Amino acid sequence: MTDKIMLKCPACGAMNRVDERRLTAQPVCGRCGKPLTAPSKPIHVGGAEFQKEVLDWPGTVLVDFWAPWCGPCRAVASILEELAARRSGSLKIVKVNTDENGELASQFGIFSIPTLILFDRGNKINEIAGAMPRSQLEAWIDSSVAAVRS
Ligand SMILES: [Zn+2]
Repeated sequence: MTDKIMLKCPACGAMNRVDERRLTAQPVCGRCGKPLTAPSKPIHVGGAEFQKEVLDWPGTVLVDFWAPWCGPCRAVASILEELAARRSGSLKIVKVNTDENGELASQFGIFSIPTLILFDRGNKINEIAGAMPRSQLEAWIDSSVAAVRS
């Protein structure tokens, strides 16, 4: 694996292209020299944190509405684990357990799980239900973000 991923510096905001293999070796920002620490795993969020972690976030957030008993959710979960690492710093991945957060589920009209909702700078920009291959999911994310940012 020689994949490069984009990491946003938490100190100065510069985007850094980092070799995936260097992520464990404390990479630093090319502009300001501060350590690059981006979440490389999905974050579990409930009703209390949703505003701060999703709606107030200045970038792109993918929210996975899931439940522990849901088989297809497990397939999506492993894809999202991988995506969180690959796109650390540019895409934030949030998981909402619908069994524990019924209010959020009804607020966003979740009728089936898994449902993925994509937010960009606090706005819901797209939604998709069901499991899909990673390549398809990434293409859906990229085209959805490109559509609102162009
Ligand atoms: Zn920096």
